[in-house]
This record gives sequence, C-alpha cells and structure tokens, in this order.
Amino acid sequence: MNLNILIIGGGVIGLRIARELHGKGVHRITILERGAVGREASYAAAGMLAPNAENDRHDDFYDLCAASCSMYQEFAAEILAETGVDIELERSGTLQLAFNEEDSKELNARYLWQREAGVAVEHLSAEETLKAEAFVSIDVRESLFYPDDWRVENRKLLTALRRYAELNGIKIREQTEVRSLISENKRVVGARTDDETFFAGATVLATGAWTSFIKIDETPLPVEVKPIRGQMISFHPPQNMFQKVIYSPRGYIVPRSDGRILAGATVEDAGFDQTPTDAGTEQLLTSAFEISPALANFDIADKWAGLRPFAADGLPVLGEFPGYDNVHVATAHYRNGILLAPMTARLICQKVVDGVGSKYLDIFGVKRRKALDAKG
Ligand SMILES: Cc1cc2nc3c(=O)[nH]c(=O)nc-3n(C[C@H](O)[C@H](O)[C@H](O)COP(=O)(O)OP(=O)(O)OC[C@H]3O[C@@H](n4cnc5c(N)ncnc54)[C@H](O)[C@@H]3O)c2cc1C
Repeated sequence: MNLNILIIGGGVIGLRIARELHGKGVHRITILERGAVGREASYAAAGMLAPNAENDRHDDFYDLCAASCSMYQEFAAEILAETGVDIELERSGTLQLAFNEEDSKELNARYLWQREAGVAVEHLSAEETLKAEAFVSIDVRESLFYPDDWRVENRKLLTALRRYAELNGIKIREQTEVRSLISENKRVVGARTDDETFFAGATVLATGAWTSFIKIDETPLPVEVKPIRGQMISFHPPQNMFQKVIYSPRGYIVPRSDGRILAGATVEDAGFDQTPTDAGTEQLLTSAFEISPALANFDIADKWAGLRPFAADGLPVLGEFPGYDNVHVATAHYRNGILLAPMTARLICQKVVDGVGSKYLDIFGVKRRKALDAKG
C-alpha cells in the first residue's frame, strides 16, 4: 500500500500503531518524536496488564481493557520472533490485598460484581494469601487473586517496538517537535515543526500528555489532555521475593524477572514537572512496607516519575477529529496505556487503512457519543 502515514509521538501507543500499520501493508511510515522515542510515560510505567484490578465496574472500558489484555500472548510471541526481544510477558496473576475493615468491605463488593460479570477471580483467606506470597505482611486480612491480570517489562516492550521499526523501514525522527497540523479544505495534509514540514496521506496523533499543545493550523485541537504525574521507586533485593503483582488500596508492587521490585505509584496533578519528590517517595515507602514489611531491609535502588495522559472523564480518546479528514488521535490512556496499546493499534489501523469503524471508536471518540454505560 502506497499510503504515506505520519505518526506524531513515539511512546508505546505511537510505536504499537506503527507496527500494526506495517503489518497491514503500509510501508511509508514516519514517526516524529519531540525527544527520544519511548522515554516518557511508557518508560515510567510499571507494565501491569490489569483489567480486573484496575476497574471498579463492568462497562465498555472494562471490555476494552480485557480485550486488549487477551491480545498480549500472541503479540509477545510475534514480537519475539520479529525482533528477538522478549518483552517478559508474565502470567502469574495479581493479588489484591485488604488490611482493614474498610479495605475488606471494598474487596468483597468488588468480588461480588466480578463474580456476576464472569471475571476469573478467587477469594483467598489470610493463610492462603501468605501461602501464595510468603513475603506479604502478616497483617493481611484477605485477598482477591486475578489469574488473568498479567504484566510485561514495558521498557523491553519499547525496545522491541523500536527494533521492529528499525528492521522494517519505519522512519524515526527524534528531537522533532510538531507544532501544528496543516490542513487544506478540512483535510489534514501533514505537520509542521519550527523549521520543517512533513506531508502525509494520513496523520495519527499519539502525543500522550502533550496532545493539547498541538494545533490544526491556528486552531486548538478539540481534545483536552492533561498530565497526571506518577512517581515510582524500586528495590533490588539479592533474590526474587515475589511472583505476582500485588495491590493494596494504597499502592502496588511489581516484581521483575531480574529480582527488582517496583513500588508505585503516586497520582498527582502537578503540571509537566517530572521531578520525584521527598513526599512522593515517603508515600511509596509507606504503601510498599504495608504490603511487605520485609522491603524495609533494602535501600531504594532507583526513583523516577512520568506523566500519564488524562482526559476529563479518565477515558482514552480514540479516533477521528470531527470536521477534518485524514487525522486520527490515540491518547489519554491515563493509567492503562501499556495494557491498551494492542487494542488501540488495532482500532486505529482498521479505521485508517480499511475505513472500518468500531463501537469503541464511537464510545471513546473525540465527541463522546455517550458516557460510560455501566452494565452492572
Ligand atoms: C508511574 C506510572 C505507572 C504506570 N503504570 C502503568 C501500568 O502498569 N500499566 C499500564 O497499562 N499503564 C501504566 N501507566 C500508564 C501508561 O504509561 C500510559 O498510559 C502510556 O505510556 C501512554 O502512552 P503514550 O504513548 O500515549 O504516551 P507517552 O509514552 O508519554 O508517549 C507520547 C510521546 O509523544 C511525544 N510527543 C508529545 N508531543 C509531541 C509533539 N508535539 N511532537 C512530537 N512528539 C511529541 C512525547 O515526547 C512522548 O514520547 C503508568 C504511567 C505512569 C506514569
């Protein structure tokens, strides 16, 4: 296919869309990235694929998350074959712990709707929880276990997607910040930086928390996205301590195959400031030690922060801009962009290449047709 496509933004969403487009036979793809590819929110993330632990009800967003999660097994095998990079898809599941009466109330309400919705969930006693993960605090009262909530090493995922691009002739232009899209007769024909113009048959905006800075000619985009900072810390004990991702209502820990343990994450409305703070570290230590007091034996190995792209209703923004042809947006994935990357790429590419819509593009479109419609 001779279509020439510009992707603006080289995070997990832009990179994953590039691979999907290439797989559909589009061979003229350019990614424009204002900094370095894969170094923003997608790099800062914890890599959890957690449709069940992250959602409070069964609705369209839940279905989107679950559908995307189920694509990971095939995707991980394919990208390994394509690039030689193992994205470390780990399917040992996720535990959600309760430590006090309030936590238990929430946990049991969650268990009820999830059972009703057909979610794979097991209720574990304190003893069963400690049997599953020996280093969890003995103060745990009970837990839920989600066998279908998985994790990946998101930094390896970014390495793999970048390598896919390099191996397949997808052009990557770093240090290239797009200021505006160019339109002719309500058709977007390309993008402009301070000193260059790029023309394209179709344009995809995957610009994360920075999306609202871009204009179409002189007109602001009809999409408002703001950054929500997330801070993380990590420990590196000498041996593996945990098999599963472990949540409490106040934080989570995520084990890596090299023994590192990530603890996250703050949720802060702090503009574009990405500096970790002492208060953030303190909060993360408190929630990590509540989950596992044994972590207090180790120093913090690393700390970092990233900016989650957030729209006012907390939902992703996917699809065309009303009134303009040939431009699509895929942003505002907030807490779940790693999880949602496969499904986002599929939906956007089907639309861009085949002109095929989806109920999800209606529900999560720029002009929301309807707000979240709870199913139960
Ligand atoms: C601490 C933390 C933990 C998280 N944990 C998880 C998790 O466990 N699971 C999960 O699913 N999600 C998680 N997330 C959320 C996830 O990281 C994001 O939803 C996802 O990374 C968004 O991907 P993106 O590609 O849209 O954004 P980004 O990765 O931020 O990429 C956007 C890219 O666009 C570029 N860009 C912006 N404007 C321009 C421009 N004008 N011109 C050119 N380039 C531009 C940026 O430089 C950037 O590289 C977490 C986030 C944080 C911060």
